Amino acid sequence: MTTQHRATSTKFPGHQKHAFVTPPELRGTANRYPVVIVGAGPVGLATAACLARFGIETVVIEKNRSAGEGSRAICLSRRSLEILDWIGVADPFVAKGLGWRRGRTFYRDQQIHELCMPHSEAEKFLPMTNLQQYYMEEFLAQHCAKQPLVDLRWGTTLVDLLREPDETTAMVATPEGTYRLRGSYLVATDGARSQVRKLLGLSFAGTSFSGRYLIADIRLHSSYPTERRAWFDPPSNPGSTVLMHKQPEDIWRIDYQLHEQDDEGVELRPQSVHARVQRHLDFIGERADWDVIWTSIYRARALALESYVHGRVVFAGDAAHLVPIFGVRGLNSGFADAHNLAWKLAWVLHGNAHGSLLRTYAWERRAATLEIHRQTEKTTRFMTPRTRGDVLMRNAALSLAVDHEFVRPLVDPRQSVPYTYRDSELNSFGNRASAENTEEFRNGPPLGAPLRNLRVRRGPKSGHLLDWLGTGFVGVFFILGEFASDDRSLLAELRRNCRLRLLLVTDARLDVTLEEHAERLIILEDVTGVAGQFYDAVTGTLYLARPDGHVCARWKRVVAAELVSAMRIACAA
Ligand SMILES: Cc1cc2nc3c(=O)[nH]c(=O)nc-3n(C[C@H](O)[C@H](O)[C@H](O)COP(=O)(O)OP(=O)(O)OC[C@H]3O[C@@H](n4cnc5c(N)ncnc54)[C@H](O)[C@@H]3O)c2cc1C
Repeated sequence: MTTQHRATSTKFPGHQKHAFVTPPELRGTANRYPVVIVGAGPVGLATAACLARFGIETVVIEKNRSAGEGSRAICLSRRSLEILDWIGVADPFVAKGLGWRRGRTFYRDQQIHELCMPHSEAEKFLPMTNLQQYYMEEFLAQHCAKQPLVDLRWGTTLVDLLREPDETTAMVATPEGTYRLRGSYLVATDGARSQVRKLLGLSFAGTSFSGRYLIADIRLHSSYPTERRAWFDPPSNPGSTVLMHKQPEDIWRIDYQLHEQDDEGVELRPQSVHARVQRHLDFIGERADWDVIWTSIYRARALALESYVHGRVVFAGDAAHLVPIFGVRGLNSGFADAHNLAWKLAWVLHGNAHGSLLRTYAWERRAATLEIHRQTEKTTRFMTPRTRGDVLMRNAALSLAVDHEFVRPLVDPRQSVPYTYRDSELNSFGNRASAENTEEFRNGPPLGAPLRNLRVRRGPKSGHLLDWLGTGFVGVFFILGEFASDDRSLLAELRRNCRLRLLLVTDARLDVTLEEHAERLIILEDVTGVAGQFYDAVTGTLYLARPDGHVCARWKRVVAAELVSAMRIACAA
């Protein structure tokens, strides 16, 4: 949670006011909606957009009349962009954002580590993209406003909640009076101070760290490339840690750690911020004029609810969990919540799965949070060591890293990576007892991991594998090199027995004629020739992916009957 302070009168785009529109309930019509979403932050909006793509109608209520205020998330992971792309909203994020893959770590005035996140020409998006959260929210809000299935209601505050076995009723306050909003499910995406959480009497458990960071967004014209830089004990800020990120429109984020004795009120004063930032800019050789546009104080917290599902109320994003910002996982994991939750809610509401499928949302996403907590607790202690012992240990590691290669990865603030639902009950192993004991794959996305993107061509159309995911289960089937008659029979059997979309990935050398079949059989040519390597695939290999693109079963050579049962297991049937 942060204490925020706008340093200048700079207008954030999110400050554009949206109109309050009188809802049908205030005109005397009482509807019941499949899903009511509380909070139009990025996670609430992404959840509504995902549900719309799955054909589910939502009402989203937002107490404010604008999308977002202030400066928060800036680093979007490749996986988040893939989710946004599936929603159909990634283009403005990519057009406006700054992609990057490099990070540098310095100890005092020496570079001790250079991180280069894995990337390949076959991928659609760079590992990270920097974009101000208020743009992300505005792009999502604009997208939702165009969706007939999303009813976005600004200036509408949840004040109370009634829960019944088969529905929830939100009591909401608006400028024109209060009304009741009924929904089969209520998704709470109302942020760190969630009103829904309070109304249900739930509280977070976990760790709050004492270290504080001053977060300053400044306007500075600099030609330095988009990279993440982290300094430990720099001459500009001795004993402290400083992080620096470039954002679009010549905005730079500078985060610096405050010392225990520092007074927040004093540190937030413009002259204090100016002095500290100027020292750092001098140190790194930035000479241009600059001005502060936003400052806030941040304290890292690793907190989560015990469960994200409470009857027909489901929590997502910051309402469900808080993670330290080091490693940029808060919003990125919120987008993963939205995608995971949306397909499961859609399956339940369409009558394709039992309500118990939602339990797996809670289990999978909480496991993801706990993993992030484990990782970021280590990073947070490294970034803001609490005791003298911690400081000594950290400085010893940093000193060693100056000369020793093997220590360098340890001193890097790790970046967000997508979580693998390795132990999910939705995974299946065919006739094998577990993922490990007969795993024939040497690489490729393991069970629970998202599918890997790949440049492909469908007839004359170029694109990427994930462009053709659709809105259901998908089988990614490979024909690489050989396509013998028994392979042809296998494909025919899959098409006869399995009701799912097959993405047939072939290589350019294949000399056989295959015919597409409406949207059920899509033929994609691997243009960069990496399918075999990315998926450790041969002819007959199949990856079964859930509607959120996570692998739930895979076979080096698929068995049609096992595929059918894997799909049943993946719906928690
Ligand atoms: C300084 C900082 C830097 C960060 N950097 C990163 C980063 O680089 N990458 C990353 O992934 N994450 C980052 N995060 C985390 C990220 O900002 C959050 O995880 C993200 O905002 C969570 O989104 P949300 O939609 O869950 O909640 P919020 O963004 O808090 O949205 C909640 C919404 O609910 C509305 N609301 C609240 N109560 C009610 C009510 N009673 N009725 C109706 N509406 C209500 C609010 O007005 C708000 O619009 C950062 C956070 C901070 C503070």
